[in-house]
Parts: sequence; structure tokens; C-alpha cells
Amino acid sequence: MTPEMASLLQQHLSGAPAGDTLAQLVGDDPELAAIAQLLSRREQQLEAQLREEELEEERPLDIPLAAEDDRVELLRDQVASFADDVTRIRDTLELVSAALGACPTCLGADDVCALCHGRGVPGSLPPDPVAFDQIVMPAVRAHAFTRSRTGRGLDQENPKTETPDWSTP
Ligand SMILES: [Zn+2]
Repeated sequence: MTPEMASLLQQHLSGAPAGDTLAQLVGDDPELAAIAQLLSRREQQLEAQLREEELEEERPLDIPLAAEDDRVELLRDQVASFADDVTRIRDTLELVSAALGACPTCLGADDVCALCHGRGVPGSLPPDPVAFDQIVMPAVRAHAFTRSRTGRGLDQENPKTETPDWSTP
């Protein structure tokens, strides 16, 4: 390595622009001059790229910080609401499955249920007496009443019972 090359390398490693030293090293050699020109162009490209990346990092977010906070708050509320829904549905399913003596996860409707593999249909387990009285008995009484009035059971094709409106609390 010539002292000029060593100096150039040292300059390059220190991060200083190598233009002047490179020009000295190239001298009058046309081949070296072409390579030096390519190197110089590449250096400029890399510097421009670096500036661009720095600018991108500094660019403020499109969303103002306060609006983002609001969105995070909204998402948090939605997650909490979903969690409440899941808890409520789980509690209901637990009560109904206990009343029916069925799988508390799927009521026997899921062949790939980890708990029952689809075998936990209603009546597959002894029903819980308290849950049975709370959930099943009112339905049995209503069913018996309907049968006594119509003289026949609930007709699946043409039910005689009115569908209650559960949309209002
Ligand atoms: Zn199951």
C-alpha cells in the first residue's frame, strides 16, 4: 500500500470527504480517474440516501398526538367491552350447560372440542339441579302449557307460539 493510499483509507475511515486526496492519488492516470469518478458519485448517492433517511425519521406522524391518544383510549374501551361480553357469554354458557348436563365449552356441538370431542350433548352429564330449575323448568312449563292449548306439541314447521321481542330490555 502506497502512503497516498494509506492516507486515503485513513481519511475514508475517519468519515472525511476523500475528494482532494483521491484527486492527488489519481494524478494523470485516466483509468484511475474513471474509477475515482465512480467512487465519488457513489459517495454522493450514499450521502443523499443518508440525508433522506434522516429526514424521514424526523418527519412528524400524520396523526396528532392527542388524536392518537383518543384512538388508543377508544380501542382500550372496546377491548374492555369485548372482554365483558366474553365473560358474560361464558357465564351464561356455564349456567346453561350445567342445567342441561352438557359440555360447558360447546354443548356437544363441536367435534374438535378439546373437552368433549363433540360427545358432550345435553344429558350426557347429570344436570345441576339448581341450574336445571332455573333454566330448564320454566321452558318445560311453557312448553307443556303450549301443548295443552294447541293439543299438539310445538310444530317446528309452523310454530304456534309468538316470538317474543327480546330487543327491548
Ligand atoms: Zn365440548
